[in-house]
Amino acid sequence: MLQISVVIPVFNEEESLPELTAWISKEMEIHQYTYEVILVNDGSTDRSWDVIKELANKDSRIKGVEFIRNYGKSAALDVGFSKAQGEVVITMDADLQDSPQEIHSLYQMISKEGYHLVSGWKRKRHDPISKTIPSRFFNAVTRLISGIKLHDFNCGLKAYQNKVVKNIHIYGEMHRYIPLIANWQGFDKIGEKEVVHRPRKYGYTKFGLERFINGFLDLISVSFVNRYKKKPMHFFGTLGTISFLSGFIITIKLIIEKINGLNKGIPVREITEQPLFFLALVALIVGVQLFLTGFLAEMMTSNNSHRSDYTISEEINLLE
Ligand code: UDP
Ligand code: MG
Repeated sequence: MLQISVVIPVFNEEESLPELTAWISKEMEIHQYTYEVILVNDGSTDRSWDVIKELANKDSRIKGVEFIRNYGKSAALDVGFSKAQGEVVITMDADLQDSPQEIHSLYQMISKEGYHLVSGWKRKRHDPISKTIPSRFFNAVTRLISGIKLHDFNCGLKAYQNKVVKNIHIYGEMHRYIPLIANWQGFDKIGEKEVVHRPRKYGYTKFGLERFINGFLDLISVSFVNRYKKKPMHFFGTLGTISFLSGFIITIKLIIEKINGLNKGIPVREITEQPLFFLALVALIVGVQLFLTGFLAEMMTSNNSHRSDYTISEEINLLE
């Protein structure tokens, strides 16, 4: 088994790739590691895929996967994870902001200290302030919600045991929450390492300010999905039952009042003239609908749990 797989998502990073791969090889040589580098071209519109093919033709340890279009960083990482053969899997960005010099100590932390996952912490960041300040806030909220004590959840430089990456599925823009997803899956030895961060040398950032809005929406859905994905009936069923029961109780109450009234000869309004009746009706209907939604969601999760959501157009140096 290879010792290390380096997984790198690539979206329009043609200038950085030769320098990055050369640097990685150099580090690997110094420490005598057996390794592979998996470059996932996420639908770049520049020459990135040509560059990857040139590099892969010169060195079979460099492998490439190409998507037919841009699916986002999460899909790129997900396919890289599914192909990775190394005992330790390391992800890093393609833009040379993460340093390959960190590979050695990350590898040690996973293989010697037994961490499931080690996340980089860009303590001294070289990004504009418009990114660093919202990012602090984002990390604080994520820490609070997840209870995981990391400073920098979204750091591109991370290391994993192989079994961790084979057992998590990253989709949408969930790459920001990999430590949470891994933790929920049961991988609880999560560590952190301060890493060197460098200014972007070539190209431009692919994520704008919308990242923060999307990030928070994702945090809500990731927490929800984590809790109810495998048991949506618990969520919809509970709400449905509450709604249905309250409708039912109100209806019984109305009927009893009416019967009492008739027996004692007190005039009672027609049931259909009482606002409560309509409330009860709505509650009954909503209750049934929530229940049905729960059933449908249950059926979908049992059918759909292993569907992949990207299409690969080409691969190089990979086995399957
Ligand atoms: N990336 C990608 N698909 C995308 C956007 C980005 O594969 O749709 C890659 C990008 O090429 C880089 C990494 O994700 O390797 C991080 O992107 P970037 O450096 O733009 O993010 P930032 O450092 O500004 O947070
Ligand atoms: Mg970057």
